[in-house]
Amino acid sequence: MIKNCICLILILLSSSSALAFQDSIAVEQKEILSKLTGHEAIVDTIVLKDRFTQESREIAANYLRNKLATFCNVVIENYSETGNNVVGTISATIDTDEWIVLGAHYDSVRDCPGANDNASGVALTYAVAKYIAQLPERKYNMKIVFFDQEERGLVGSRAYAQKLVDEKLNVVSVHTVDQLAWDEDGDKGIELEVPTDSIKAHYLKIAEDFGYEFPIQISDVTSTDHRSFRRQGFPATGITEEYKNGDTTPHYHKPTDTYETVNFDYLTTITEFVQKVFEDMMK
Ligand SMILES: [Zn+2]
Repeated sequence: MIKNCICLILILLSSSSALAFQDSIAVEQKEILSKLTGHEAIVDTIVLKDRFTQESREIAANYLRNKLATFCNVVIENYSETGNNVVGTISATIDTDEWIVLGAHYDSVRDCPGANDNASGVALTYAVAKYIAQLPERKYNMKIVFFDQEERGLVGSRAYAQKLVDEKLNVVSVHTVDQLAWDEDGDKGIELEVPTDSIKAHYLKIAEDFGYEFPIQISDVTSTDHRSFRRQGFPATGITEEYKNGDTTPHYHKPTDTYETVNFDYLTTITEFVQKVFEDMMK
């Protein structure tokens, strides 16, 4: 009886600390969205109007580097006179040369706070990375990348994909997140963009294992960062709200793509789902 009690207490303690961890990640996601979108000052008294100008993108990149640095090794990779990718590394807990890449672009178009597009993808990526970093076991190494200049023609992700080729990194799969904060019909549906069969099967398996009932549609949209990786022959997919299906932000590339339009309930659900996908991948 006593043993059972101790066991129960341990289970309750570990599940409450897991809950506290997820709650604190949700708070951090709000902060990231708030600061990147000018809802609050990002540093000192600086409030970003967009993440389009050189200056505002550099401020955003430094902020994201500092955030990642709290739990992983991180560098800003300057790939051109104007472009900076923020790249974090989380090592496997076994000896392996295999890598998984997870990324999201942090730039926006001019005069657009870019909350949905794509502070939401940055916040999701950050939360998955932080979750994976605290796991006791990881069978893959992981790169977390915040891409610059997606809005100018996938410039940052192309530079990064080229770097993976140049460095002959053994990449198992690439997952990029773009626009994940709009769910007007309330079904919490997502789309996977041109996944390979095995990537698609993996996401669907985790949805089934954990009883997620939101629709997961497969779309043929390639107009974002995952294209850069497929072009180089890497297995890649994009994760997004129902972009093709039409339940997507009406504020796309407008000054009204603000913090207030973010559906945090939706973002949290999909964040936890993608955390589970990556956790399973790491087993
Ligand atoms: Zn985007």
